[in-house]
Amino acid sequence: MAREFRKVGVVGLGTMGAGIAEVLASHGVEVVAIDLSDEALARGRTQVRNSTDRAVARGKLTADDRAAIFDRVVFSACLDDVKDADLVIESVPENLDLKREIFAELDRICNAEAILATNTSSLSVTEISAATQRPAQVVGTHFFNPAPVMRSVEVIRTVLTDAEVVADVERLLERLDKISITVGDKAGFIANALLFGYLNQAVAMYESGYATREDIDTAMRVGCGLPMGPLTLLDLIGLDVAHDILEALFNESRVRRHAPVPLLRHMITAGLLGRKTGRGFYTYETPDSSVAVADAHTSTEEQQVAGARRVDQVGVVGADSVAQSVLVTCARAGYPVVLLPYGADTADVVLDAIEEDLDRSVASGRIDELSKKAALQRITVAAGYADLADCDMVIEAVQGSVDDKRAVFAGLDGAVKPGAVFATVTSAVPIIDLAMATSRPADVVGAHFCMPVPGGQLVEIVQTIATAPDVVSTAHAFCRRLGKQAIRCRDRAGFLVQALLFPHLGDAVKMLQARYATVDDIDAAMKYGCGYPMGPFEMLDQNGLDNALAVQTRLYEEYRDPSFAPAPLLEQLVKAGYLGRKSGRGFRDYDD
Ligand code: NAD
Repeated sequence: MAREFRKVGVVGLGTMGAGIAEVLASHGVEVVAIDLSDEALARGRTQVRNSTDRAVARGKLTADDRAAIFDRVVFSACLDDVKDADLVIESVPENLDLKREIFAELDRICNAEAILATNTSSLSVTEISAATQRPAQVVGTHFFNPAPVMRSVEVIRTVLTDAEVVADVERLLERLDKISITVGDKAGFIANALLFGYLNQAVAMYESGYATREDIDTAMRVGCGLPMGPLTLLDLIGLDVAHDILEALFNESRVRRHAPVPLLRHMITAGLLGRKTGRGFYTYETPDSSVAVADAHTSTEEQQVAGARRVDQVGVVGADSVAQSVLVTCARAGYPVVLLPYGADTADVVLDAIEEDLDRSVASGRIDELSKKAALQRITVAAGYADLADCDMVIEAVQGSVDDKRAVFAGLDGAVKPGAVFATVTSAVPIIDLAMATSRPADVVGAHFCMPVPGGQLVEIVQTIATAPDVVSTAHAFCRRLGKQAIRCRDRAGFLVQALLFPHLGDAVKMLQARYATVDDIDAAMKYGCGYPMGPFEMLDQNGLDNALAVQTRLYEEYRDPSFAPAPLLEQLVKAGYLGRKSGRGFRDYDD
């Protein structure tokens, strides 16, 4: 017979415990909330009060409901008070000895039938359960922060946990309106195992001066639609907590991706733990504040565009959809643009496609007929490189091999006036390879217009070893005038967005390949636990598995880091023609 959970104990009323107590009480469950002292209990009560106040203010909860929530919670500093609970959820700090001690105590205090659960993020549930005489009744219930908001909970079953116990806990979570994702007992479970490798890589990028903290965060927020950039998220989690989770992951996986980047240890030693101490990667108004303030590492927009060269006229070389969208963007921003068609399509085909694109913008009300006409009038067609001679900025957007692109750069070099900036939209070859086809590599910069799922307004400005600083500033100012968000990074495989995103998605493929969790469970953990707009497999299917494979292969070839090597499963799917949405089948099947 299924267990009824009338009363549930919550031990440790901190950030997570208070949230879990609120979730239970707001779904009609009696709660016994335990902490060490009256002060700690008062803090927990205040957290529940603040959270429910917000829910009342937003009209999600009535004042009566809120009163009922408080009526259902008994606050106590005596662990014995959980003795008649049907389930106890432990949420004390992440320390194995402490958790084992509490589990041994709970085992002694509670009914023989009671289930004991731990909210641990990274410790072994099996080791915790071994402190009791009832390991078959011990599970992990990993809530996400903030517990009342995030929709999923990872349920961890050890090899000893009874199937019925797991089923009963899953039913309770359903009653709490949570999506349960049940997995085995491996460090980091699904979400943290995927998340922390990626967060650690972002720290390594920052440590090496690859990009600024703001640009790393903007890349993932604007470029990938994630709710927060990785360094902002680390400040929220707390660098000490993140370090411990990475250690636990590394101890199990032994992969370099999980070895905490040394900078984390240094920041922790210096007391820069994140928001809670008022300083981490960013500086905050006060400890515990979420408001970041300017500090010595902040650079202003003015500094970023300092010394920018004047751009009055733009040239675009290319013909396919990327060239067309760059052309339209420049013309709509008010630049006279000279198009040098390159490839199979003639200028007429390109111009027709652009007109259609503008018509769609008119139909959807984004621009009016007059702006459309003005944009079209700003576009002229070149017969050869000589017609680009007066352009201040020339953007290469050709579909072709490295040799094709190098030939274009050599052509531009021989025709365009000195002082012009040459940009390339490529993300597939090192920018320096193209720059060296000219006699003026200092004037060549990458301008990668990102189009990753789910769509971004981002341009990655890529600085080679030879690019002059004022050329970077020029590209930055130019992107700003196009209405794009510009970020800067070095000339390395994947630039910023792809270099962070695809190994992260690749880890999800490796997890699937290891049969730890299903496609649906992994997507749900990241969507409902971490607030991702799409799960990793949805992103892979949307981006194209062949593209993901190409980026991962390039990253691996450049860095030779085994963490970047694509999973054999991804290679096999691509070989089989399962490329994602565009081929009707990837990690999932598509009808449309
Ligand atoms: P926290 O430090 O905010 O709260 C811990 C609480 O436990 C404190 O109120 C403390 O007074 C109390 N406590 C300590 N020893 C106790 C004892 N012997 N008996 C009773 N209470 C005791 O910690 P937290 O962030 O809420 O984390 C709790 C657990 O949840 C950890 O295992 C953590 O890994 C996990 N977790 C945290 C997050 C997060 O984002 N913070 C997310 C998921 C899981």
